[in-house]
Amino acid sequence: MNEWREQLKHHVNTLEKLEKFIHVSPQEREAIQAHKNTRWGTTPYFAALMDKDDPECPIRKQVIPSMLELQNEFGMEGYLVWKENRDTQEKRPDSIARQYRDRVAFTVTQTCGIYCRHCFRREMTIDKVLKLRLDVDEGLQWLSEHPEVRDVLITGGDPLLLSDDEIEYLIRRIREIPHIQMIRFGTRLPIVLPQRITPSLIKRLAGYHKVPIWINTQCNHPKELTELTARAVYDLATCGINVGNQAVLLKGINDTVEVFRELHQKLLGIRIRPYYVFYCEAAPGIDHFRTPLEKGAELIRDALRGHTTGLAQPLYVVATNIGKIPIVASDSIVDKNDQRYLLRNHDGRFTELPVIS
Ligand SMILES: *Cc1c(COP(=O)(O)O)cnc(C)c1O
Ligand code: SF4
Repeated sequence: MNEWREQLKHHVNTLEKLEKFIHVSPQEREAIQAHKNTRWGTTPYFAALMDKDDPECPIRKQVIPSMLELQNEFGMEGYLVWKENRDTQEKRPDSIARQYRDRVAFTVTQTCGIYCRHCFRREMTIDKVLKLRLDVDEGLQWLSEHPEVRDVLITGGDPLLLSDDEIEYLIRRIREIPHIQMIRFGTRLPIVLPQRITPSLIKRLAGYHKVPIWINTQCNHPKELTELTARAVYDLATCGINVGNQAVLLKGINDTVEVFRELHQKLLGIRIRPYYVFYCEAAPGIDHFRTPLEKGAELIRDALRGHTTGLAQPLYVVATNIGKIPIVASDSIVDKNDQRYLLRNHDGRFTELPVIS
């Protein structure tokens, strides 16, 4: 059996299995026992990155249920239906989520390599209160009937958990649709199951083609980056696939200047280009991960801008029902009169620029 299939077979999703990796705290034990109706778990590979003794470990907090998930002050009920415009007039299969005219998200599976506690799609992936009918052929048919769509983002769940044959089929069928100009995969597997990037998968993804494939993964803390991930990203690059990162801003995990900077520098160090940092969305049960909205913009200003290359700078966005909205710290232009702008840099010094009329 493939190593990645072995990893899935031994998914760490019970207290007993978790105890082989860490000293489970009384709070973690209580939460696991209380979360009988939700999915949780991770690959053994990712579990092995956990700190044995520290319940504050950023990997433990992303994987192990918490009693705090049962509190819900700010999360919206029916979040995903609102966010993905599922109750609008346009007739779409359940697999297609739409916020833009030219691009859509195509959900092909509800299974993941790790069930992130902070998942904004947790109504579908973890709590299973939202039932969707995900039919790949129905989605492909819809795509072929919508010539204004030029960019397809294949998502889940985790789409790289499909078999090599299913992935090849999906890519081939999408490439047969004349108006589709690019294919993207959103997948956490390069981080939580890098063994999935096998020579056989690479063979099916490889090849110079007019419709390129891009991958965005999700890494939220520098501890998640290993030599195996570095290798998987390199292998993807050799077959013409660029890997970007979409981090989620998570309170107590990556919301300090030090961790935020190290994360983005380390990503570039293994050829992953930071793309987005997402504000932790208003999905139910994840209040304890959410920072004030301004936090991400302040971190980009204080941790990245002027402190590391522009290549390491993601765009900080809040994802909404009307698309992603960038949030930037708006204190760079300090003053403006008829003649000049007064600009402030990352370390508080000032400079001037002429006003062009
Ligand atoms: C995020 C998202 C996209 C892709 O957005 P980009 O800014 O192009 O990465 C497309 N459709 C939906 C529904 C999305 O949520
Ligand atoms: S891998 Fe993605 S879809 Fe799955 S639980 Fe994590 S964030 Fe959600």
